[in-house]
Amino acid sequence: MNDEQLLRYSRHILLDEFGVEAQERLLAARALIVGAGGLGSPAAMYLAAAGIGRIALADGDVVDLTNLQRQILHATRSVGTPKVESGRETLARLNPDVQVEAIAMRLEGEALDAQVARSDVVLDCSDNFATRHAVNRACVKHARPLVSGAGVRFDGQLTVFDLRSPQSACYECLFPEDAELEEMRCAVMGVFAPLTGIVGTMQAAEALKLVAGVGETLAGRLVIFDALNAQWREIRLARDPGCKVCGKRAR
Ligand SMILES: [Zn+2]
Repeated sequence: MNDEQLLRYSRHILLDEFGVEAQERLLAARALIVGAGGLGSPAAMYLAAAGIGRIALADGDVVDLTNLQRQILHATRSVGTPKVESGRETLARLNPDVQVEAIAMRLEGEALDAQVARSDVVLDCSDNFATRHAVNRACVKHARPLVSGAGVRFDGQLTVFDLRSPQSACYECLFPEDAELEEMRCAVMGVFAPLTGIVGTMQAAEALKLVAGVGETLAGRLVIFDALNAQWREIRLARDPGCKVCGKRAR
């Protein structure tokens, strides 16, 4: 690190659990953020401010006026422009040290596979089950830690699937793809603005800990947050040995 970086990251370096070594691990890391919306906004901003070296930001949408109530990566003048371009500008203003790769598409198939393979940590900040399952399959395949968050109305949830460990559960263990889950989109259900900020910020915290190798992550625990009544609950997660996605992993 140069002198400017030592100053910029001094409040991390002062932490006993962090120090220079953990900060250097952040600077050397690449994070993939799938979705530059309500969750992806705070997640990307904290990862950039904290000094993750490279951020790949993937989203196929353009900024819409209805996004601005919670998607703090974007500003009024960005309405109509691709979210990843607006995001890249905001992140560059926050921390020019960080290389931001703007992927202006809905990641799927081989493109998703390649992006996950090149990343040290993956943050699922998407808003639909098809993407969530595709991201999970790629993370299982490449043994990458996955930080999964979701929020709609006043209800948020968050967990970590640390797929570097063969004992880890995966998203499919928890929400099997063929189950009849109702797709709850913000567009029809509404969402409390700071809810996505809280969940997305926690996703950033978990991703930073995973990369830095400090503390204990949410692996094996699902946190459920009710913002309307200010209540947190925690549920233990177990692997499904018969899981279609992670069940056949070599262990
Ligand atoms: Zn599984």
